[in-house]
Amino acid sequence: MNQQTPTTLDSHADVLTRAGLAPAELGGGSLAVRSPIDGAEVARLAETPAADMPAVIARAQDAFRAWRQVPAPRRGELVRLLGEELRAAKDELGAVVTLEAGKITSEGLGEVQEMIDICDFAVGLSRQLYGLTIASERPGHRMSETWHPMGPCGVITAFNFPVAVWSWNAALALVCGNPVIWKPSEKTPLTALATMKILERALARFGDAPEGLAQLVIGGADLGAALAESRDVPILSATGSTRMGGKVGPQVLARWGRPILELGGNNAMIVAPSADLDMAVRAIVFSAVGTAGQRCTSLRRLIVHSSIREELVTRLRAAYASLPVGDPRASGTLVGPLVDEAALEGMQDALEAARAEGGTVHGGAPVREGVPGGAYAAPALVEMPGQTETVKRETFAPILYVMGYDDLSAAIEMQNAVPQGLSSCIFTRDLREAETFLSATGSDCGIANVNIGPSGAEIGGAFGGEKETGGGRESGSDAWKAYMRRQTSTVNYSDALPLAQGVRFDV
Ligand code: NAD
Repeated sequence: MNQQTPTTLDSHADVLTRAGLAPAELGGGSLAVRSPIDGAEVARLAETPAADMPAVIARAQDAFRAWRQVPAPRRGELVRLLGEELRAAKDELGAVVTLEAGKITSEGLGEVQEMIDICDFAVGLSRQLYGLTIASERPGHRMSETWHPMGPCGVITAFNFPVAVWSWNAALALVCGNPVIWKPSEKTPLTALATMKILERALARFGDAPEGLAQLVIGGADLGAALAESRDVPILSATGSTRMGGKVGPQVLARWGRPILELGGNNAMIVAPSADLDMAVRAIVFSAVGTAGQRCTSLRRLIVHSSIREELVTRLRAAYASLPVGDPRASGTLVGPLVDEAALEGMQDALEAARAEGGTVHGGAPVREGVPGGAYAAPALVEMPGQTETVKRETFAPILYVMGYDDLSAAIEMQNAVPQGLSSCIFTRDLREAETFLSATGSDCGIANVNIGPSGAEIGGAFGGEKETGGGRESGSDAWKAYMRRQTSTVNYSDALPLAQGVRFDV
């Protein structure tokens, strides 16, 4: 338990007011919003009726017809202003992330920083939506490839990155010429409302953006399904569980839309004999217990060489024993609450299942003292005899399963032998091992790191994973291409009409 009991913490109401959410808009509805900090109900929001969805989508289509004609660098200006407004409101929005998602203060602020970073990235991108010029095989011909706006982009987000994931999508979609319709998690609608206030300030300064360019709908899966099923939403980006993606992905494909799926992970670290164990311990603890194990990239599986397993487990047990669990607003807290009681129950069930499969559990008990109303737990370290069924599942909680290996190829095989394929890493000082891990015969994940944990990605790289993680990519690199349609054009500036491949067809 974190002994640094908070003394001068702001009330939930103050945090919401400072983020521009007036009490009048927080009551009277059917969606109860609770803070994971203490389980208190902090709002009862009006939900968007499912019957309104066609009108929402029609507004986005209208906005698209105008926005696609705005030059991309000018579209970037809106995102630049959004970045400025986010900088100005960083503390206020970060506090709402802490209030509603339960992240410790520095992680709440870090999430807003991620929004700022993607805005900066997208502003530069707005002048770099480069096409290609392609050598034509025919004389007097020029071939090129151009990228065009695609249409409204639906964005379904998960509770654990309640605002950053919207910004990864929205910043790119907006510079690419697409309106955005956001369906946040029903567990975190307040961060979404607070973000929209910030966006409204940017829109006001921008001046002439079309109405309906960025909309928010509040409610549950039925609103997400309306986006998934509509032919007028050509792109649907959905972040959440594999269960959700398994429904939404086929719905989008069935009407020939483009899904961008960012689903569950089951991320591993291989620790080789030559690893710098001081660094490895720090990386393991941050990535396994940070955000109370509720990141899609959280470290869940540790695959350790037998020669160092005992030493590493001893050091980790000592580190785990000293972890301050408690109110995420209090300075010094490193492990905040799970999102709700159901998550805590899920954690306890997974630990029970691991025990039944021969696991030895260290830690993992619920923590109640000093944190009434919240679903807190001590992070768990679980020594497993092998990679059992429970280990292969993603349990969204701070559980780290530890397994041994003797041979690197067996370790890589174990790392890849799960249904998910998001993030992975190896700690080694052996160049051959590091390069093997990154090679075609190495990790099968979308993210593979060396001497860095699996979580905490930077905005510049494409983010996403393979297999049941869904295959989507967001944020940096060329992820923007998923938000545009590609057009190949051939221009004939000669006075002849030669056919490709030498085909003769004289009429
Ligand atoms: P969830 O699947 O319960 O909910 C995510 C969102 O999907 C919510 O907005 C929810 O309302 C919506 N939804 C649920 N069922 C739907 C349906 N049938 N049709 C349309 N929308 C539907 O996930 P969660 O508990 O909020 O988040 C945790 C999960 O998200 C974890 O599995 C985590 O790994 C994953 N996640 C993945 C990434 C990534 O980038 N790969 C990022 C964050 C979280």
